[in-house]
Amino acid sequence: MSRRRISTTERLAIFKRHRGICHLCHGKIAIAELWDLSHGIPLELGGEDGGDNLQPAHRSCHRDQTAKVDLPTIARAKRREARHRGARPAPKRPIRSAGFPASAKRKANPTPELPRRRLFVEVEGR
Ligand SMILES: [Zn+2]
Repeated sequence: MSRRRISTTERLAIFKRHRGICHLCHGKIAIAELWDLSHGIPLELGGEDGGDNLQPAHRSCHRDQTAKVDLPTIARAKRREARHRGARPAPKRPIRSAGFPASAKRKANPTPELPRRRLFVEVEGR
């Protein structure tokens, strides 16, 4: 997953192939406006470092996408993989819910006390 250097010629070719349209906001990239080559599928998620995976994007759109979407997605994928491979132990105790609140009807009519049950019967004559 090494990032290769992309030549000016290749950058220009990609820009022209996408007709100078930002693949994130679908807006036109204006002359002298800063833009990046963005990986449609991030490298860390198995995206290709070339071909159709490289698309032009406004620098601001690209940074927003990286910070708000790509990095959290990559982090989630890494956590999921670690759990899948058993590198991250499962919680020792299951997560418990708070349970159901007692209803007003139940509070008004609590379960009646039942008579105590005899656990054994004494046998006479022993
Ligand atoms: Zn954009």
